[in-house]
Amino acid sequence: MTTLPPLPVASPTIGEREQHNVLEALQSGWVSSTGPYVEAFERRFASYIGVRHAVAVSNGTVALHLALHALGVGPGDEVIVPDLTFVATAHAVLMTGATPVFVDVDRATWCVSPAAVEKALSQRTKAILPVHLYGQPCDMTAIEAIARRADAFVIEDAAQGLGATWQGRRVGGMSKAGCFSFFGNKLITTGEGGMVVTNDDALAARLRSLHAHGLDPKRRYFHTELAFNYRMTNLQAALGLAQLEQIDEFLEAKRRVHGWYRERLGHLSIQLNPSSPDSAYWMSSVVLTTHIDRAHVMARLASRGVESRPFFVPMSQMPHLCGYRAVAADGESGCPSASELSVSGVNLPSGCHLIEADVERVCSALMELIRE
Ligand SMILES: *Cc1c(COP(=O)(O)O)cnc(C)c1O
Repeated sequence: MTTLPPLPVASPTIGEREQHNVLEALQSGWVSSTGPYVEAFERRFASYIGVRHAVAVSNGTVALHLALHALGVGPGDEVIVPDLTFVATAHAVLMTGATPVFVDVDRATWCVSPAAVEKALSQRTKAILPVHLYGQPCDMTAIEAIARRADAFVIEDAAQGLGATWQGRRVGGMSKAGCFSFFGNKLITTGEGGMVVTNDDALAARLRSLHAHGLDPKRRYFHTELAFNYRMTNLQAALGLAQLEQIDEFLEAKRRVHGWYRERLGHLSIQLNPSSPDSAYWMSSVVLTTHIDRAHVMARLASRGVESRPFFVPMSQMPHLCGYRAVAADGESGCPSASELSVSGVNLPSGCHLIEADVERVCSALMELIRE
């Protein structure tokens, strides 16, 4: 029997273009945060999203922290966060000293439930932080409307949503500020890295100063407040620019892979990602029905060289986060849809390099297990 190569859930696509840029950055000697690639990457990224400003930072977590801090979010404020996300979303809120309020997600879209956001509002709500989970755009129309009525900011966590659109506009560029991550498993990577985008000129200037120790833009070595070193390096940006030049191909590959899964699994009693031409399909995922044992499915897939990952654990179930308010769509305490999805969701191999035969291999293994 021939052993087929293992299929990872995600892996970066790195080629000659990346090698060329990184080598050039190395040879130029500009290895830290000064250098031409940073500005070139920022400019091209802003143009891709369709916003006036982009500020490159060292990772996605600090992108969120920087945006929240720059908007004055701090102790005494509440920030509404979906319960089903990567923990960085909640950690960024806590890093400002503000209080996260966890809200349930929509059972169909897996993204934050606007009804739950509405129920979670309080006098202290300063910001709403929607997450475009697994590449699916949130209902930004509903969220912006709620935020306007509540006089709160919207900051998008678009770490998983790069390339997704909502009503013809790219996510991340639809609110006060949008935050991205370029970790190795994201749509484009810089190793570690992130970006904050905004259309607000004053906010952009503030982000730029705060990510470099509160530097006065007009006077060298003069700093006006306590701030951070959150800059991206020229080496990272060299990699990022090469990646960004290929983003259309990466997105097309993600959508093609998802299409292959849908052809084979769409008729079964398991739920796939919400079907939407606006989704970036960063991850192709399935939510199993309750009578299927997820651990068994994942172990059997692994025995055939197919890596899979469970959905995120809800924020409200983490030992250090379970004391904060958690609000369901009907206003009750708790996040039942996030809990249900969390125990039954599986991310499948979703890399851009997958071919149809790889997806066929994953699906035939899955279908056997579901029939058992
Ligand atoms: C990846 C990710 C982050 C954090 O990005 P890092 O670059 O790893 O710090 C934040 N939020 C979400 C939803 C993510 O997926």
